[in-house]
Amino acid sequence: MAAIKDSERGRIAPIKSVSPSRAGALLGCRLAEAFRAAGTAPRLPTHPKAHFGILAHAFLRDAARGAFSGKSATEIRAEWRIAVEAYEENLRREPSDCVVIPLIQTCDDFEVNAYRLIAAAARLAANSTRLRERTSFRGSALEMENASKDGQIVGRLDRITWEDGELAVTDVKTGQVNDSEGKLRAATRIQLLLYSYLVHEQFGRWPTTLRVLPLHSDPITVPFVPAEAQELAERMKARLIDANELIGKVRAGSACESELASPSVESCRFCRYRPSCESYWEAMTSVIDGKRGCSDHGK
Ligand code: SF4
Repeated sequence: MAAIKDSERGRIAPIKSVSPSRAGALLGCRLAEAFRAAGTAPRLPTHPKAHFGILAHAFLRDAARGAFSGKSATEIRAEWRIAVEAYEENLRREPSDCVVIPLIQTCDDFEVNAYRLIAAAARLAANSTRLRERTSFRGSALEMENASKDGQIVGRLDRITWEDGELAVTDVKTGQVNDSEGKLRAATRIQLLLYSYLVHEQFGRWPTTLRVLPLHSDPITVPFVPAEAQELAERMKARLIDANELIGKVRAGSACESELASPSVESCRFCRYRPSCESYWEAMTSVIDGKRGCSDHGK
């Protein structure tokens, strides 16, 4: 199958800042992030479970920030229904994604996961005393952003709390938090370390606790040392500058789009730009040719 060729200059754009939640992806493949920065329309739809994850994460973040403080489980369930309807209403406007509506029919285990989500939101609401406006089905501009002083790392933290006089960061996760070996996923660890760096930039002190709050299990504390987070933040800033220099060259016509690409199983597996990515198809072709060569050799 041939790659679908577009203009190499217009479909990529400089990446404004490193988002902790996308830092693992930026380390994996600069091209996919350059596509995102340009607003290039992906050619593959988002998986229904990913839609559930996006919506559920925003809902839990609202709960963690106190948007449902004082509400009963029944009231939180009603809030969830409103959030799902509003999210699906937005999806209706996306030609590639409207096929997944209603999510209750296209997303496996939707009701079971929604039940767990509402229970988790109720637990978070019970621990929150501060009432905040909800944002889970509003525009992203209403959400609170935390930025490094130089603006190169920008993220949205789910929850920052004072615990026994020390800062703690909690990130809610609706999907798998561990890899196939049972260890915390590398991208999640990177995300949390960058959150700790943002907290240090904002408050002038490091958090002592980094915590993941999975939907399906107990909270997980992530050990770290500030030097590690500082070093990672500097590495990510260098990666951002390096990517943007190359993106500038591609847009100016002095470098090829493929120089930005790093095709790999991990990066390409969930990349929605695959159909129009020449580097992906070249990598696929060489894998197929390599296998064919092996089988020919064995004859
Ligand atoms: S398909 Fe792979 S190589 Fe191409 S942009 Fe996506 S992650 Fe990068």
